[in-house]
Amino acid sequence: MKRPTAAGRTIERGGQGFDAAVLGTSFSGRDPGTRPEVLVQANTVFDVLQAVRRARRDNLRIAVCSGGHSWAQNHLRDGGLLIDMSRLNTVEVDAERRIAIAGPGCWAVDLDLQLKRHGLFFPVAHAVDVGLGGFLLQGGFGWNGRNLGLACESVVGIDVVTADGQLIHASADEHPDLFWAARGSGPGFFGVVVRFHLKVYPRPRTAAIAMQVFRMKHLDEVFLWADRVGPEVPCSVEFQLLLSRNSPGIFAPGIEIIAPVITDSWRQAREDVSFLTRGPLRPKASFTTPLLPMSPSLLSRIAARRIFPPAMRWSVDNMWSDAPMEQLLPGLRRIADTLPPMPSHVLMLSWHPPAQRPDMAFSMEGRNYLALYGEWKNPKDDAKYGGWAAGHMRDLAPFAKGIQLADENLAQRPARFMSDANLARLDAIRATYDPERRFFEWRGRPAAAVV
Ligand SMILES: Cc1cc2nc3c(=O)[nH]c(=O)nc-3n(C[C@H](O)[C@H](O)[C@H](O)COP(=O)(O)OP(=O)(O)OC[C@H]3O[C@@H](n4cnc5c(N)ncnc54)[C@H](O)[C@@H]3O)c2cc1C
Repeated sequence: MKRPTAAGRTIERGGQGFDAAVLGTSFSGRDPGTRPEVLVQANTVFDVLQAVRRARRDNLRIAVCSGGHSWAQNHLRDGGLLIDMSRLNTVEVDAERRIAIAGPGCWAVDLDLQLKRHGLFFPVAHAVDVGLGGFLLQGGFGWNGRNLGLACESVVGIDVVTADGQLIHASADEHPDLFWAARGSGPGFFGVVVRFHLKVYPRPRTAAIAMQVFRMKHLDEVFLWADRVGPEVPCSVEFQLLLSRNSPGIFAPGIEIIAPVITDSWRQAREDVSFLTRGPLRPKASFTTPLLPMSPSLLSRIAARRIFPPAMRWSVDNMWSDAPMEQLLPGLRRIADTLPPMPSHVLMLSWHPPAQRPDMAFSMEGRNYLALYGEWKNPKDDAKYGGWAAGHMRDLAPFAKGIQLADENLAQRPARFMSDANLARLDAIRATYDPERRFFEWRGRPAAAVV
């Protein structure tokens, strides 16, 4: 999705520029063929109120997008009214109270830059152009998130236009049920968030990265070792294993161990990545880097060029797992063997969540997170790669706890994305705020929880 350059307008289906404007809302280059009846490019909160009232009057369902980064293009439905929130993208920072108020169309990089000026920080997404809207509603795995928590844990309030066309504020004290729902329901949220009130943090002084690259023949030992050391890795480190067909330094299929670290001193950073730099597998690495200074935003930009280029077609799916790594290895080998060409990649994140989170809709995570990102450009390759990620996740489903909404693919593979109790509670809250089911929800639900 590109930044909007002109004032927003309302375009009826078939009107001039309609198709380009609808498809332009999506980061993905795929045209799913579905179209809303009306596109409202909101410029103001008033536009959003008007759009919701019109949807009620004309009995249209409502879809919403902000940054357009849903891999599944969740907002591109057949029929209904689509509200594009990308123009509501301002950020106000109250440095004294350590609060930022940001529009849902604000990109990760916009919030980060504004906060940097005040020496402040927020766990924004790992890609610069991810919109706050979808990111915060689904949970939000951001920079330094193992220390600061999921990004939605730092949402202290939301301003929402509800299905009855009213603007309300929800927080722990006002409409707490709606606030509970907004922290983790993702594409299942039933309202339009027009502003997020965020708790922000002092900016850490040091950000760096260490990396080791192994040939694919070492897959078993690398993953087994990572699983063994994972629980001991300090929360300042985002410990990731990335598989691709063209790893840095070896220019061949390989496994990259990537350890970005965010902390307050170089000395601490060095100590925190010593599990890797002094690890037993180091002699087998074909390529290693020392600890290098690297800001999260620079790393995001490098990743964007290398593995998240625009206008691609995607096959994405994921799983949380607490299973022993030995059980995952056969599936991981099959994934490595069938990995589509660059920039397709696989991410294993050694997550190890805290024992407790605040009470909120978000309720699905595990020791390890595995996500598959198949990417290609030519529509002719749809049949070849389109089912790759969901197919492998189906194979590994016996070892999965569930999935994360950030990388969901619920149309192809419905899977459990929150606890059954929370899904039931969410449905009950929805019945209060959106009794006519005006808002579209996820593209699929876990079979056991269909209502
Ligand atoms: C390149 C890339 C990198 C990513 N990196 C990360 C990452 O580091 N961490 C992470 O957690 N996720 C990441 N994601 C996943 C991403 O956070 C989710 O897809 C998220 O939904 C994107 O938010 P968005 O506003 O850009 O997307 P959109 O496609 O605009 O929104 C997704 C859905 O959220 C809902 N929604 C959006 N805005 C609103 C609103 N204002 N009010 C009500 N509902 C709304 C709608 O249901 C919409 O369909 C990444 C995705 C991509 C493509």
